[in-house]
Amino acid sequence: LPARFHNPEESIWNITTALGLQYKCTDLAQGFPNFLLPDYVLGVLREVQLAGGYELQQYTRDIGHPRLVKIVASLYSRIYNRNLDPENEVLITCGAYESLYCAINGNVEPGDEVIIIEPAFDCYEPMALVAGAVVKFIPLRKLCSPEEETGTSADWTLDEQELRSIFSEKTKILVLNTPMNPLGKVFNLKELQLIAELCIKYNVLCVSDEVYEWNVFEPAKHIKIATLPGMWEHTITVSSAGKSLCTTGWKCGWSIGPGNLLKNSRVVHKENVETYITPIQEAVARCLEREYELFNTDESLFRQAAKIMAKKMDYFVKLLRDAGFDPIVPEGSYFMVADWSKLGKKLDLSKEPGDTRDYKFMYWLVKNTSLLTIPSSVFYSPKNKHIGEKLMRFCFFKTDELLEAASKCIKKIE
Ligand code: PMP
Ligand code: GLN
Repeated sequence: LPARFHNPEESIWNITTALGLQYKCTDLAQGFPNFLLPDYVLGVLREVQLAGGYELQQYTRDIGHPRLVKIVASLYSRIYNRNLDPENEVLITCGAYESLYCAINGNVEPGDEVIIIEPAFDCYEPMALVAGAVVKFIPLRKLCSPEEETGTSADWTLDEQELRSIFSEKTKILVLNTPMNPLGKVFNLKELQLIAELCIKYNVLCVSDEVYEWNVFEPAKHIKIATLPGMWEHTITVSSAGKSLCTTGWKCGWSIGPGNLLKNSRVVHKENVETYITPIQEAVARCLEREYELFNTDESLFRQAAKIMAKKMDYFVKLLRDAGFDPIVPEGSYFMVADWSKLGKKLDLSKEPGDTRDYKFMYWLVKNTSLLTIPSSVFYSPKNKHIGEKLMRFCFFKTDELLEAASKCIKKIE
């Protein structure tokens, strides 16, 4: 393997998928719903399959299927409050994943610095390293006093001085993820203004991963950093139809940003994937046209999904607290992390594989209770793994039956 690929080990997603097959599991590990919501999306896919003509079964354009870029531009023009140009300011990719890869690899020269806020979704670092970047990590910290504590992900913030000192003339990209996987944090206006000030001062590109943009729980509000003064010119925003339409297997995503920035992403996309799957793009376009019509109404899937998720989130917080976990209540996303220190003290994990205690606990849990989770240290760099080691991640966007089964598993921890 060429040395620029720094991450040859098995990913946590492959490890947990294999464990899921080995043990008959209650699977709260990988982030996807175990149900179709709503089933209209399948109907749309069937409609596309049956639509006449050969066109929808053939290549479409590299920048994106015309019907999809058009509706993405129309939908987000409302949200950005600016007229997006579908031909130059939207790029359709193979999932948000590929958008991230294109944004990072299309803009980094070897030696440039990339800032990553921890805990971080595990693809940012390897993508930056492939591009030859030097990665600078900065962790969110619980800086509030006990009186100010809310018990939510809002307690976790960036230290202003630490953030200021990590920026330099060498900084090329800051990767932002809001709502954040795995912590569920939704960055507030003040936090975004500080990031924006520094990106503008140092002429840095903000790659803003907003795949959970619709999954926000009141009173938190999702703010797009690209809408802050001066930030449109500094931001590529990444979204996912997999996340927003609850169809992660469709693996369709997009980047939105000014034409001059997206130009570089387009080159990487063209050299790698070239054109993303036409019938899936057509189906996503039809679903988004429906969302456009129903925007901000109770029938909108975005709103319905968030409502269902909020209920499941409340249920799961209580379930974890009752069992002796100390959950951090998420402001967004469909993940929850919970401190398991109190429970862990009683357990003998010495025979389990792995270098960190949360990794060992993942194995112990699946073997002894058949509950499958994600150890949060995978979202931290070596220096900060001790923060993640105390936290397990659960995906709670699952059927009530599966969450109930999880409750039974958790009761077996002794
Ligand atoms: N970013 C984050 C924060 C994610 O959790 C995911 C989930 N896979 C992705 C990006 C990738 O999204 P997609 O499945 O659309 O590639
Ligand atoms: N984003 C999902 C998660 O965090 C899926 C990860 C993946 O890339 N397979 O669980």
